[in-house]
This record gives sequence, structure tokens and C-alpha cells, in this order.
Amino acid sequence: MAESTGPEAAFRTYGNFIAGRACGAAGGETLRESDPRTGTPSFTIARSDARDVALAVDAAEAALSDWRGLRPVLRGRVLARIARVITDNLDLLAGIEAVETGKPDWHARRDVEVAANYFEYYSGLVNLYAGEVINLGDAYHSYTRYEPYGAVGVIIPWNAPINQAARGIAPAIAAGNTVVAKPSEFTSVTLLELARLCVEDAGLPPGVLNVVTGYGHEAGDALVRHPAIRKIAFTGSVKTGRAVGHIAAERIIPVTLELGDKSANIVFADADLDAAAAGAVRAFTMNAGQICSAGTRILVQESCKSAFVERLGAHLQAVRIGRGADCAMGPIITPDQYTRVNGYLHAADGSGFAVMRGGRFEDAEAAAKGLYVAPAVILDADPGSVFFREEIFGPIATLTGFGDAEDALRLANDSDYGLVAGVWTRDVSLAHRMAARLEVGQVFVNEYLAGGIETPFGGHKNSGIGREKGIEALKHYTHVKSVTLRI
Ligand code: NAD
Repeated sequence: MAESTGPEAAFRTYGNFIAGRACGAAGGETLRESDPRTGTPSFTIARSDARDVALAVDAAEAALSDWRGLRPVLRGRVLARIARVITDNLDLLAGIEAVETGKPDWHARRDVEVAANYFEYYSGLVNLYAGEVINLGDAYHSYTRYEPYGAVGVIIPWNAPINQAARGIAPAIAAGNTVVAKPSEFTSVTLLELARLCVEDAGLPPGVLNVVTGYGHEAGDALVRHPAIRKIAFTGSVKTGRAVGHIAAERIIPVTLELGDKSANIVFADADLDAAAAGAVRAFTMNAGQICSAGTRILVQESCKSAFVERLGAHLQAVRIGRGADCAMGPIITPDQYTRVNGYLHAADGSGFAVMRGGRFEDAEAAAKGLYVAPAVILDADPGSVFFREEIFGPIATLTGFGDAEDALRLANDSDYGLVAGVWTRDVSLAHRMAARLEVGQVFVNEYLAGGIETPFGGHKNSGIGREKGIEALKHYTHVKSVTLRI
């Protein structure tokens, strides 16, 4: 697999990556990905089943003892090398990411850079992650140890493949676990290339990171059920997360679920309305709205609503769609999701809501071939409507007016989800009061998607359980043991 160095690597056939080597699926079957910008077939990947998962888990178990036994500084050194190797291979990885997801080239490059940042961040942080001495008086010596779980399953969706793979894998291996990762069947190749680079160029011991591709109900299900998998980190839909959670409950293993959202983005009348309008458009058009934390419920104070909507319309019109440096968004990644997103738009048109549309295509002829959806805002959306309540996962937001802060909180918290929320105001006290009472895992004030890999991330309610990013993630990839000696 070592010969791939550029665009000619596109459309190759990829096997799984197990114990440091590429290998085809046991059943010999393959799946074909396609480029959402053109609808044309692209890479071929292995369609794996329980036999392939078993091989990968065996490899992860075989590598475990040596890897977890290393001093953290030595594991961290390997992670730091992985970060450098990712950066050295930015063109290759971003090129593949753009073909698989269709996102604009700058965005694909940024996601690869974020992936490198995860490895760099955890390469240092793992050295600070240590147990404590507990004072039980002079007759005892008592302390805690943070120990890795063992072989961990990491399951990843299609919207930010390399970024989310790194989000799970970097803290998992930093903490001394070994990993079997299952990427989405639509976007598997950046992770396969990353795993290869980790072993061949960064010196990660074979078996510490294994990648098995294929369908969720085949490879993914087998991974969650495998008796030697000691923890699951799942990112994806609520429906699949619930199924994964059931199996984890039967097996009594820990599970992190990073699921969907219907994030509220709240604009008070005292805010910088132009900045808020620009931020609100970016919040639901970034990655064509295919971000779990997309700000898809815009709540705006009635007293500034008409002024805000005017600014929102101007920023919406300016959204450029395509792959160039000035393009904010690309296509919807999968055909099924494209159909689903358009279904919501047709339903909104049919049910009498006013819909404000925007976006300008970079190349209308090229756009006609791909899975592109122009961004839209459904105005005065009723909180009981599906548009206000359901995660659409496309560039569509609702806009709803509110009276005062209590009203805004009631609307924002009136959701089955609770991943993130945005607040726009110049009143610092109000911002803190809102942040304290919003039922979400992360709050952004005066900049949507502020924060980064250092800030803990995860949901309330149907948005999931557990936390990724920051030092919190290391806690979720280790268990604590207390040791007490009578002395
Ligand atoms: P999905 O649930 O369909 O698939 C996610 C992954 O799970 C894929 O790798 C898939 O193959 C696998 N899978 C499917 N069925 C499985 C099964 N029965 N057992 C084990 N694995 C299985 O989700 P998706 O459509 O790929 O992603 C979109 C969803 O992901 C959205 O709801 C979005 O909000 C959510 N998401 C959440 C976060 C977060 O951090 N909270 C980030 C990105 C996406």
C-alpha cells in the first residue's frame, strides 16, 4: 500500500488495515464509494464481516501488552510523530477527503490539520494524566492509577471522517489502549491511509491501530459484539447509537455516544446583529449543515427580528457553493441524505412556511451533477413542527422569535437534543446566566463553534453520553483503580 503519493492514488482498491498490513475481506467482497460532487464511482473498499473484525481484534489484543506498558512519554513521542506525518502528507490526505466528502478543498485541508492537532495535543497531555495519593492517615499508603481498557472499538460517521477518527483514536492510544476503528462505508479511505502512515512512517507498532471497513450492520455490529472489545466510542445517529448502547448494556462495557443535535443559536437585540447574522449563516451552512453541532434553530429576540432577518438574508445570498477557496460549502455527502434533505424543503414549501433561500453556485453546470442543496431558512417556524424538532443534517435552519431571556431558554431547551448552543449578546452577565441554564454540553458566546480540540465536547439528552476532546477524553478511555497498602 506504500506507493500512493498523490491524486493517482484516487480510485484504488483498498483492503482492511490489520496488524500493520493491508488485507482483503475474508469473504472477498468489496463496496464502491462515490464522489458526491459528480456522482461518479471512486474508491473500492473491503466489505468486511465478523471474520475480519475477529482478525483485527486479535491484532489489537496482541499489541496491547507492549503498548500499554510503555512510559507515557514514549507513547506520546509516537503520537507526536503521527502529527508530523499527517502534516507531511496533507496534500494526499486532503485530496482523498475532498473526493470522499465533496467538501471544499480548504475545508478538507483544515480537517486534516485538525486531525494532526489531536495527535499533537494528546502526545503532551498524556504525560500530565496521572493518579493521586489519597490520605488515609499514617497507617496506609493509598493511590489511584488510570489504566487503559484494552482493545477499544471506534465507530465513525461520514461527515468529518479523518477529524472524527483522530478525535477518538488519539486519546485512546495515548492512554495505552489499542484500537479497531470502523469508518463509514461512504468515507473510509482517509482513515486507511492514516493507519498505513502511522505504521510505515511514524513507527506506531503494528496492531495498535487497525481499520476494518464495510457496512454498519455487518462489520460495525460485529465490532460492538466482539467479546474482547472492552469499550466502544461511537459517533453517529441516535438510531444507531441506541442500538450500539443496547449491546454495550448487555455486555456491560462502557460506551461513549456522540450523536445528533438540533442546536439553538440565540440572538439578543443588544448583540452585534451583523456579526450574529454572519455567524448564524456559517453555523448551519458549514459542511453543508452536516455537522452534529450545526446551529439549525435560530432564535431571535422579537424586538430586533426584522433588522436581523434583513442581515441574515444578505449573508445567506453570499454563501458560495462549490470547491474553491471562497466556497463555504460543498454537496450533501450521500444520495440518501440528499433525498432526505430535499424532502424537508418540499414539506416546508407545502406546509405554508415562508422559506428564505440563498447561496450562489461557483459553477452551475458542475453543480447540476452533484448532490448540492442551496441553503435555506424556514421563517417563523412553529416549535411543534418537524422543522424545529428534527435533525435535518443539511443546510437548512429554522428562525423563531422570542420575547425575553426566559422565553429564549424555554424554546432552546424544548428539544430532545442537547449538544451545543450559541448566544449572541453584549451583556456578559446575561451570557453567563444563559450558559448556566442551557441544557447542552457546550455553549458558544459571540462566535459559533468557538472552542476547539481542548474543550470537552458531548451531549445531554439524545445527543449522547460521555465526552470527547480535552482531558475529559482521556478519562473516558481509562478506568481508575485505587490501591491501598497497610504500611
Ligand atoms: P450512522 O449512525 O448511520 O453511522 C455511523 C457509523 O455507524 C457508520 O460507520 C456506520 O457504518 C456505523 N453503523 C451503522 N449501523 C451500525 C450498527 N448496527 N452497529 C454498529 N455500527 C453501525 O450515522 P451517519 O449517518 O454516518 O452520521 C450522521 C449522524 O452522526 C448525525 O445524526 C450526526 O448528528 C451524527 N454525528 C454526531 C457527532 C458528534 O460528535 N456528536 C459528530 C458527527 C456526526
